[in-house]
Amino acid sequence: MRRPSYLLAAVLIVAASCTSAANESSDTSAADITTTTSRAQRTTSAPTTTQAPAPTTQNDAGQTGLAGLDVGDPGGDESGLTGDRSLGSIGDPTFPGLGNAGYDVSGYDIGLDLAGAEMSAEARIELTALIDLTELHLDLVGMDVDEVRVDDEPVLFDRDGRELRLRLADQVSAGETAEVVVAYHGQPEPLDTGEGLPFNLGFQTRPWGTFVASEPIGAATWFPANDHPQDKATFDVEVTVQSGQVAIGPGQLVSTVVNADGTETYSWEAQDPMTTYLASVATGDFELTTETIEGIAGNDIVIRHAVHRDALLATGDSLATTAEMMAAFEEQFGPYPFESYGILVVPESLGFALENQTLSLFGTDIIGSEAAQPILAHELAHHWFGNLVSPAAWDDIWLNEGFATWAEWWWTERIAGRDMSRIAATIPMEPLTGLTPDTLFDINVYWRGGLTLEALRRTVGDETFAEILSAWTERYGGGVASTENFLDLVTELAGQEATNVVSQWIFAPDMPALPEEQ
Ligand SMILES: [Zn+2]
Repeated sequence: MRRPSYLLAAVLIVAASCTSAANESSDTSAADITTTTSRAQRTTSAPTTTQAPAPTTQNDAGQTGLAGLDVGDPGGDESGLTGDRSLGSIGDPTFPGLGNAGYDVSGYDIGLDLAGAEMSAEARIELTALIDLTELHLDLVGMDVDEVRVDDEPVLFDRDGRELRLRLADQVSAGETAEVVVAYHGQPEPLDTGEGLPFNLGFQTRPWGTFVASEPIGAATWFPANDHPQDKATFDVEVTVQSGQVAIGPGQLVSTVVNADGTETYSWEAQDPMTTYLASVATGDFELTTETIEGIAGNDIVIRHAVHRDALLATGDSLATTAEMMAAFEEQFGPYPFESYGILVVPESLGFALENQTLSLFGTDIIGSEAAQPILAHELAHHWFGNLVSPAAWDDIWLNEGFATWAEWWWTERIAGRDMSRIAATIPMEPLTGLTPDTLFDINVYWRGGLTLEALRRTVGDETFAEILSAWTERYGGGVASTENFLDLVTELAGQEATNVVSQWIFAPDMPALPEEQ
């Protein structure tokens, strides 16, 4: 994801650096974060810093709740899932109650009828029990549930907040599979997440059509889900719309059927595992263009963009760089990990872009601006970092945003010769963990995250750095990984000294100085 305040910060910082004032910040409104960082004790010396107090980001002024948290190490195992685990919670400390325990979903088959005034839907969920189940939970926000069947038998259910609780007629034993079918209807309502994000999350309805922006917790606004990155699954999505509208989904379009009642049904299939927050659909007057390019491994990559007709002018030729960008990133990060890629451009100003899997979401504000190319690079890079390797817990979000920001800088330097890391390094920023829902997408997660990787590259050299990145996607691709996993990989491939550098960048209260280029 990329946000507007981040863009604003970029402009301000460029302006500040142009007037040589970047290091003279007198802004002390951000509280010093003095919490100890137990993981930082991995380091062999105290972090060095000569930086000024951290600048305020978009929402840290007056929000000093971080001070009460253990910033460095939430304890527990490598997964970072240290919260209470129960049938109704996967144990993510940032979002207690998100996701569910006891089973693993292998596939969602979601049918949405959007031809009428409200959504009418059926979700078929294939899952494997991890423990003996006599009940199980799904996450679902709003919507009226009409019926739930498990292996074709109706079951009792009730609702409690975002929990849809099913009482199974027959036990599903550990290791057994089951098919849960949920029929539901209503008008999806996006979630108001308070001050953390400037937009509501989930399924969005507009006069011109619909789209989805779920990261991090909005997927359950449009389908019953095990709504956490830990549980990836394939997605088949069938969307019925009035003729004249087009329905766009993840993966590839496998069929379009014209129905007798003046509607059309579009079927999309995404065969590669996907986390719930990256699943998306859109409906409206979209122009769909498709081409096939050859990937670095000799495979076909289907490139399909969907641009709303009212956004064609703003989009211009921004998407013409996709194949070139894809080739460059494959060279740097390894083969593109999914069957298809493309951009969805909606006809409104969004204030952010989002890396929905195989279908990155843009609005007319960014796609029509000078920021389009760096942010297109950012969202494409997320397909390796965030989508292929997803965060084990939401507190590991720097593994998404720091990596995508580093890739964005790499692309910007390549095409424009600008070294963004040099600018970012002049801004002291807070550590990368111990985040709250309100600070999950703060600027430090992006820039100090990107600088963490740049510091590693400068410490170990280009060759070892590339080895670490490719080992990262090979080892954890298709699943999730934690900050601890990354530190262990750095130690394995580059040694303890490199890990010490990275640890300080992640955990130290004061931001270290960027090492000199070797
Ligand atoms: Zn991002």
